[in-house]
Amino acid sequence: MNAKPLHVLAVDDEPAALTIIQRLFRKESKSGDIKIDCANTAQQALEILNSQRGTDIVLILSDVNMPGMSGIELLAAIRQKNPSPPPFVFVISAYNERAEEAKRFGADSFFPKPLDMDALKTRVLELREILNQ
Ligand SMILES: [Mg+2]
Repeated sequence: MNAKPLHVLAVDDEPAALTIIQRLFRKESKSGDIKIDCANTAQQALEILNSQRGTDIVLILSDVNMPGMSGIELLAAIRQKNPSPPPFVFVISAYNERAEEAKRFGADSFFPKPLDMDALKTRVLELREILNQ
């Protein structure tokens, strides 16, 4: 295993949702295939993205409804910042009507809640494969 870990930033105001994502990738985190950082607010996510630690984040998994800045506003801020290469953003929401809005603001995928964990895991590991080619 010599490829770089896929650096993921998970953003959700519900700690339980972040725990689910961390558990889903426990094996990959241990083996160094994936590295996961978590944020409880979109503001905190932006701080991480703007910090030294965040420079190699390639995938953001973000909830939409959060106190303060929403996941859609976070997405817009990331797309406006326009880093190169642009990170992938997967939006996760219980509100299916957010899917279109998320796509319009540049989301790469939308996952409804309750989360289909197999689907998310498959998509994330696929992305890792593609990026390591
Ligand atoms: Mg929420």
